[in-house]
Amino acid sequence: MKKPLPSLVGFSEKNHQWFAEGISLAKLAHDFSTPLYVYSKEAICSAYRAYDAACIRPNGTRRARIHYAMKANSNLAVLDELKQLGAGFDLVSGGELARALQIGADPKSLVFAGVGKSSAEIENALRAGVKCINVESISELQRINIIAKTLGLRAPISLRVNPDVNANTHPYISTGLKDNKFGIAFHDVLKTYREAARLPHIDVLGIDCHIGSQITSASPYLDALDKVLGLITQLQLEGITIHHLDLGGGLGIDYGGESPPNITEFTNTLLNRIEEQGFNHLEVLLEPGRSLVGNAGVLLTQVEYLKTGVDKNFCIVNAAMNDLMRPALYEAYHAIVPVQMSSAKPNQYDVVGPVCESGDWLGKDRTLAVYEGDILGILSAGAYGFVMSSNYNTRGRAAEVMVDGNQAYLVRERETPESLFNNERTLNQASTLKQK
Ligand SMILES: *Cc1c(COP(=O)(O)O)cnc(C)c1O
Repeated sequence: MKKPLPSLVGFSEKNHQWFAEGISLAKLAHDFSTPLYVYSKEAICSAYRAYDAACIRPNGTRRARIHYAMKANSNLAVLDELKQLGAGFDLVSGGELARALQIGADPKSLVFAGVGKSSAEIENALRAGVKCINVESISELQRINIIAKTLGLRAPISLRVNPDVNANTHPYISTGLKDNKFGIAFHDVLKTYREAARLPHIDVLGIDCHIGSQITSASPYLDALDKVLGLITQLQLEGITIHHLDLGGGLGIDYGGESPPNITEFTNTLLNRIEEQGFNHLEVLLEPGRSLVGNAGVLLTQVEYLKTGVDKNFCIVNAAMNDLMRPALYEAYHAIVPVQMSSAKPNQYDVVGPVCESGDWLGKDRTLAVYEGDILGILSAGAYGFVMSSNYNTRGRAAEVMVDGNQAYLVRERETPESLFNNERTLNQASTLKQK
């Protein structure tokens, strides 16, 4: 399988060596060991700036704000850099709320999404004073109303609408079809807004939709947008005013051959449509995740063994499906490159990890010129990489490094085996504890 390399900012190849900004990936692998996630600060900043610049319209008014969907990569260093650039955040759990508060994010820059928010999560979000809770069902709306009443406040909410549009992406990351669990079914939206308007501890602020991820064309967004703008008009006729429109995230990136609209084009297309339809008063929120960080990260791994099979050759590396789950989960493609050119003879390999599952592969049928011991870079691993990693096979999760120019910062230490079973006890130990 021969695909073009993704075009990257912050990572480049010079004189047969790959670099993260000013530092060679070989040096980072040597200094921090592998598997290792490496992020480029410049790549994150440049993607953010592309969004932010497009949020300001030609006449100088700011029409939209960016709320980074931190589930894509929630390392505190990533969050802190984006906060410093002015980003707000989109949260999907109480854990993510705790991360946002940990880096000192302004609660008014936080929106809280998710189809199954617990009472404790809702209470914590309301106590923290988040900007908005995006509500996904009538039961959730009623639950929020009760919790807000106990806290003696009014909960700021949007309803997440399921616009029933096909985002043409992998079924597991498609969220805006009527068969998906997400959002309020299109034909129930008006009735749910009426209920929201009636509830005394609910403050209706906006409307929200998020149709999926790794979307490579603007057209499903425009379809969803038109439907949502129609709803806003109908709601106004009923005396329900919508102040903000949250269009979710989902813009795809180039993993090798995709050509999604670039960030500026994409943002302009959406904002132009909103203005053309006469909704100049609406505050717009965008919640990009992958498109801010996906191409800002590389996973470094070392070749342990080269193994010749009957029909296939295997390049067995020290990273696995527990480190980067996307290939196993979605059959996702990541470009894989040796970080230093070697004199090895090119050969075709399946790049696989040490985990005891045949689903544990990182790349199939790749032509690589490598020796045992060489370092490979798995590209475009900045989004849904580390955050989806697990401890399967009692493998400690990888370390994470952020590079800024000629400086490398260890932003998460490698996990030790002991840390993985620290919270466990044998029955004997547990019964001793119970007696105390
Ligand atoms: C996951 C998610 C996003 C971000 O999606 P990307 O494809 O990473 O841009 C935005 N909003 C919500 C509600 C999400 O669940």
